[in-house]
Amino acid sequence: MNVFNSALTQLKRGAKYINLPPYFIDQLSFPERTITLNFSFKKDSGEVEIIKGYRVQYNNLLGPYKGGLRYHQDVNMDEIKFLALLMVIKNAIVDVPFGGAKGGLAIDPKSLSEKELERLTRLFAKELAPNIGPMRDIPAPDVNTNSKIMDWFADEYIEVKDKKQNVENKDQLKAVVTGKSLQNDGSKGREQSTGMGGFFVLEELIKRVGVKKPLTVAIQGFGNVGSNMAGILHDYGYKVVAVSDVKGGIYDSSNTGFNIDLVRECRLEKGMFAGCYCIGSVCDLAKKYEDGIITNEELLELPVDILIPAAIENVITSKNASKIKAKILFEMANGPTTAEADQILNKRGILVVPDVLNNAGGVIVSYFEWYQNIHSEKWSLEKVNRGLKEKMVKAFEKVWKIYKEKKVDLRTAAYILALQRLAEAKPDL
Ligand code: NAD
Repeated sequence: MNVFNSALTQLKRGAKYINLPPYFIDQLSFPERTITLNFSFKKDSGEVEIIKGYRVQYNNLLGPYKGGLRYHQDVNMDEIKFLALLMVIKNAIVDVPFGGAKGGLAIDPKSLSEKELERLTRLFAKELAPNIGPMRDIPAPDVNTNSKIMDWFADEYIEVKDKKQNVENKDQLKAVVTGKSLQNDGSKGREQSTGMGGFFVLEELIKRVGVKKPLTVAIQGFGNVGSNMAGILHDYGYKVVAVSDVKGGIYDSSNTGFNIDLVRECRLEKGMFAGCYCIGSVCDLAKKYEDGIITNEELLELPVDILIPAAIENVITSKNASKIKAKILFEMANGPTTAEADQILNKRGILVVPDVLNNAGGVIVSYFEWYQNIHSEKWSLEKVNRGLKEKMVKAFEKVWKIYKEKKVDLRTAAYILALQRLAEAKPDL
């Protein structure tokens, strides 16, 4: 089953528990608008390449379309549709006034120079400009995109708008995109928000399932989400015993746990964008931990308390689901578990805590950033984190209540909550 269809299956599973008109589920089964772009891009060498770009504006019942931009060679329409649908569900679960969208470019950003990356991002922003805006559709970072890329994107969008008509308040127009740098009116706390939000949910969960700290954790992916989550968990006494990036990982079988600051420092030393390029830090650290080198596949099957996939989709499948040894699978990546694997894990009694709840911290702080831009405000980090915690804990409590009352798995409970919110907003036909 492809990723989009597996998300639809989950949506329909949730819909069985609430009384909804059939047309409403049909409406949610299709994106409202899909945009495919083919544009010519001149490389530094003078060679011209045709690049495919996508934006899916899935549903805007709850507010302007909102969702990240992914730069990856495997990006395709089916994946973007799937990720856009997840944004609809996620935004409804954490109660932010946004609909769902997603976009991306089918390129390998590691193959581009920084100048090429900027030119391509500006081209993408120009092409999308007629269809996006602070009250219409608001992109953000995702895999291989970061605050620098968002800054270029916002700058180009404002230039396009300014050329058409003189823009009075350019600063407010920056709300067209979130995840910008602090110097360019980004929000304090946005960089760590997805990991921090996940941490708030995990702490609530731990209180309820009765497992005792210190807990061992394996994390796949060391980009924005994985590295921040690793750092926060380390700071709060969890034993992060395995980490990895696309090249592989390291495992501390003594269960002492890595010093995550060292891992991060090592990456900083390389002077690369976090998450945009492989900087080989894990590979270097692996040398220090000699016997601890593992593959990404091995990481998923380690005997740990908590497994956190925080890289890409479809890493836990029917092939490896029976080999997962963690007690809790805490999804931070979008769609890391296939529908078939989900069923196997549920049967095996492994507690699967879903992406649409756990990784919503990013979009919550994106909402705060958008709000600050629109209202010309600047919030303190304390205010951002207080707001983030409040929203994450409230969403978790609601999902947990449905999970207990309806005796469904946590993913179905999360989808039920989202559908309840979306149904309240649906217009009478
Ligand atoms: P990122 O580009 O910053 O980092 C991705 C990490 O995954 C890197 O360490 C990379 O080396 C690793 N990776 C890539 N391909 C891999 C593979 N085949 N096997 C193992 N590791 C691989 O991306 P990110 O922003 O951290 O996003 C990670 C996941 O979290 C994605 O699923 C994304 O959609 C989701 N997410 C991100 C945010 C956000 O705010 N950035 C918010 C919600 C969800």
